[in-house]
Amino acid sequence: MIFGGLNPLTLIDYPGKTSAMVYTIGCNFRCGYCHNPELVDETVEDTYSEEYVLSFLEKRVGLLDAVTITGGEPTMHEETLLSFMQKVKDLGFLVKLDSNGTNPNFLRKAIDRQIVDYIAMDIKAPLAKYYVTAGRPVDTDAIRQSVALLKEDRVDYEFRTTVIKILTSPEDIEAIAKEIEGAKIYNLQKFVPTKTLNPQFLRKTTYTDEEFLEFQKTCARYVTFCGIR
Ligand code: SF4
Repeated sequence: MIFGGLNPLTLIDYPGKTSAMVYTIGCNFRCGYCHNPELVDETVEDTYSEEYVLSFLEKRVGLLDAVTITGGEPTMHEETLLSFMQKVKDLGFLVKLDSNGTNPNFLRKAIDRQIVDYIAMDIKAPLAKYYVTAGRPVDTDAIRQSVALLKEDRVDYEFRTTVIKILTSPEDIEAIAKEIEGAKIYNLQKFVPTKTLNPQFLRKTTYTDEEFLEFQKTCARYVTFCGIR
């Protein structure tokens, strides 16, 4: 498969691990705040073949703990990505997958085949408002299935929400926490406008630190750990 980016080292994406990061091309959502628009609209110019990425990783065996696969939406690539993940595991790396949760079958296959160690799933909004944030019609049953699958706790996981005032009210945050009730980790991510799919989002803002602390207290009633990033 073809990747739209390769970051040789990140210290912040796989909790507690050193990781390389690869970016898949294409996404089935159109979140206005997306900070990887060139991957979503598939206009990315610098691309990397799977062979190139694997040969890079071979040289990092013993030097890096993990490989993080992000996008775009990686699970759109089905068997081609599952096969790449198997090769990465065979090299001895931990594998982290970022996903919007729209493909529970992919997640189940990756877990069953033991080719993923950590899954970070975005929770865009309460289920009833998902389509607003995602910018597309959404199969919310698939989202529900992915949430239930991760809560089985067969791999490390986190749920996470990018919080923007215009899209996410305090009531929405509590509604999300209720919908993922019992989850191990739920991270609230402060929206930082840098580059966005919809340029209007460059002018949007998030809540204050004090407001985030209130959200954290609310969410902690439903999940084991709620973090703020
Ligand atoms: S933020 Fe939204 S549009 Fe961007 S990659 Fe993630 S799911 Fe796709």
